[in-house]
Amino acid sequence: MEKQREMDWCVSMPKIELHAHLNGSIRGSTLLELARGLGEKGTIVFSEVEHAILNSDRSLHEVFKLFDLIHIVTTDHTIVTRITREVVEDFAADNVVYLELRTTPKRNDLKGMTKQSYIEAVLKGLSDVATVDVDLACQDLSTKNSVDSCAISNLCDGTTRKKIYVRLLLSIDRRESTESAMETVKLALAMRHLGVAGIDLSGNPIVGKWETFLPALKFAREEDLPITLHCGEVPNPVEIQAMLDFLPRRIGHACCFGEEEWRMLKSYKIPVEICLTSNIRTETISSLDVHHFADLYNAEHPIVLCTDDSGVFSTSLSGEYSLASSTFGLGRIEMFRLAQKAIEFVFADDAVKGELRQMFDSAARKLNL
Ligand code: 5GP
Repeated sequence: MEKQREMDWCVSMPKIELHAHLNGSIRGSTLLELARGLGEKGTIVFSEVEHAILNSDRSLHEVFKLFDLIHIVTTDHTIVTRITREVVEDFAADNVVYLELRTTPKRNDLKGMTKQSYIEAVLKGLSDVATVDVDLACQDLSTKNSVDSCAISNLCDGTTRKKIYVRLLLSIDRRESTESAMETVKLALAMRHLGVAGIDLSGNPIVGKWETFLPALKFAREEDLPITLHCGEVPNPVEIQAMLDFLPRRIGHACCFGEEEWRMLKSYKIPVEICLTSNIRTETISSLDVHHFADLYNAEHPIVLCTDDSGVFSTSLSGEYSLASSTFGLGRIEMFRLAQKAIEFVFADDAVKGELRQMFDSAARKLNL
């Protein structure tokens, strides 16, 4: 009963999500439905994947196998559009007021999909959202571009309905080549006015080399495109130090840091996107009582709670706050302040930050904080 009350309170609080992978946030019911459909067509053997979808206890290795399955299921533009719409509606229903959604632009010649048309399908999904107003870099949406501008004009109609700011980060997958990574950065730059706000480096941490992605990341930096890196998901001191020395705007996870890496991180004050449930489920951290959240929080190091893959790990941002509260003893005011501080780490511009500050101030009054 008490637990449910705290969860309800976490839902009622405005929240900022900065580390959510689009396809990892797919609704479980949608994934099952799509997989069943592919089974009927004979593309996959449904009985072989059903268990992988339903089983929520997966190692990091198994999670990446599940992503391979998700990618087989999501090769169609219309499916990408549907998943995007559902994901944004789900975050909005959880009172997320600012969402940075990251996704890896995919090319699929068989379906006539290019990296650009993939992102256009994502943008179409944002324009299809019906339950909430989506703010997506409004000022420039009227300019003619490759996306149907009529389809997205309703995002900026200035109504007073519930609103969610959405910005996209384009992910470079660690399996990609230097050229492919560069293509993604160029696409992000070309689509900046449509709500693309930054670059992420993700994908299986035991695959690929930092040097392969460095030219593209350096180019993004030269063009003022903010960067976040998945960093330290596996023990790899050389790569972790190179990543920290690169001074990304944020990093995700930081699970396998040694003493020297903690020292560097803290001296550079790089904000960390923390995904508690994901870290435990993938066993990158053995248990919550040894999770680095506590140390970073007590050291007042910049951190933000995030979901990572809300669909794959059956969680929500409110669930992550509730978990942090029960594990680390955070009270309501502390949780609210933690959510509010994330405003300073968003990749959107100062105008959006200003509006978010107002939203949180007004929520604090309503919640009597
Ligand atoms: P997508 O980019 O297809 O929208 O989202 C799924 C992809 O995000 C996965 O294939 C993987 O590349 C990346 N991803 C999701 N969760 C994690 C994670 O916990 N760690 C890393 N390194 N990558 C992840």
